[in-house]
Amino acid sequence: MDFSLTESERDLVGLCREFAQKEIAARAPLAWEEARCPTDLLREMGGLGLLGMLVPEEWGGVGMSTVGFVAAMEQIGLADQSVAAAWQAHVTIGSLPLYLFGDDPQRERWLRPLAEGRSLGAFGLTEPDAGSDARGIRTKAERRDDTRELYFDDVWVADDHLIGDPSMGLSQFLSTLEVGRISIAALSLSLTQAVLDMATDYARQRVQFGQPISKFQAVQFKLADIATELEAARWLTYRAASLRDTGQPFLKEASMAKLKASRLAVVAASEAVQIHGGLGYMLDSPVARFYCDAKVLEIGEGTNEIQHLVIARALGC
Ligand SMILES: Cc1cc2nc3c(=O)[nH]c(=O)nc-3n(C[C@H](O)[C@H](O)[C@H](O)COP(=O)(O)OP(=O)(O)OC[C@H]3O[C@@H](n4cnc5c(N)ncnc54)[C@H](O)[C@@H]3O)c2cc1C
Repeated sequence: MDFSLTESERDLVGLCREFAQKEIAARAPLAWEEARCPTDLLREMGGLGLLGMLVPEEWGGVGMSTVGFVAAMEQIGLADQSVAAAWQAHVTIGSLPLYLFGDDPQRERWLRPLAEGRSLGAFGLTEPDAGSDARGIRTKAERRDDTRELYFDDVWVADDHLIGDPSMGLSQFLSTLEVGRISIAALSLSLTQAVLDMATDYARQRVQFGQPISKFQAVQFKLADIATELEAARWLTYRAASLRDTGQPFLKEASMAKLKASRLAVVAASEAVQIHGGLGYMLDSPVARFYCDAKVLEIGEGTNEIQHLVIARALGC
């Protein structure tokens, strides 16, 4: 199987690499310290066409392949996970329901501004009593005359604001999450690569007992294990992306990629902190920032236990 990138995918990766290294890596740490969403960076990404990644040109996007999106994510997430997480949510679950299930006037009105980077998309499925059990959501729409009410306390939604088939609401929502899982897998790859790079650099510089700690086999084996697992997770993720691009079912493969890559990200971030010793525990160290960002990868877009269920079901259990 060949996942080599096309010319346009390579151009996109180059653009993302440059923006991530010059702008995101330099400015995102301050947003982390101030606990705010760096909307300025997201706006600039919109200006570069990066917010309409999976939306066809007809609706203001760039019509990138899923493989190209994964490769772009590897660059963005290497610089900062918060920016990358907001970006991927916008690109996948925040925009795709409108493209997949909206009609043309709805796409013109809401999808185009999202794809052109003029607004930021979000996806609200989780409720206080319904997380993994998405069927347990209490929000419901009721037809009353020519309007529908959403139970957000007196929120009224006009007919032409309803996306897709009302009887298929949940399954439409859940099918969007399939792409989201590839995206979280890609985010996990980028986190793992980031912490592997940091740990390797640090291990080569940090001297103890008269030699760089990278010369100790205990440290070498940690790095070698992470690099090997990363390659395996990368193949699973590109394979799931490639299945989507070629119009084949990818539910099981997306769950496998998300499960494997997010687990790896958590382990790799922990080992990278370990290699940094006490310095890695300091919240203002870059590796600690990535460590804090890792855990959510096992929770969002379906916890890893839910990925197990999806995979087991696909096996016929
Ligand atoms: C940073 C962040 C961003 C998020 N963004 C969004 C968003 O944009 N939109 C949105 O809608 N939601 C979002 N979420 C919510 C997220 O999708 C949920 O947290 C997730 O689906 C889990 O739901 P829960 O937190 O209610 O946990 P629960 O469903 O209560 O699960 C608790 C634990 O029980 C386990 N469990 C539950 N059911 C089973 C089962 N059948 N078998 C085995 N184990 C099970 C779970 O795996 C988990 O370990 C976000 C969450 C975080 C942390």
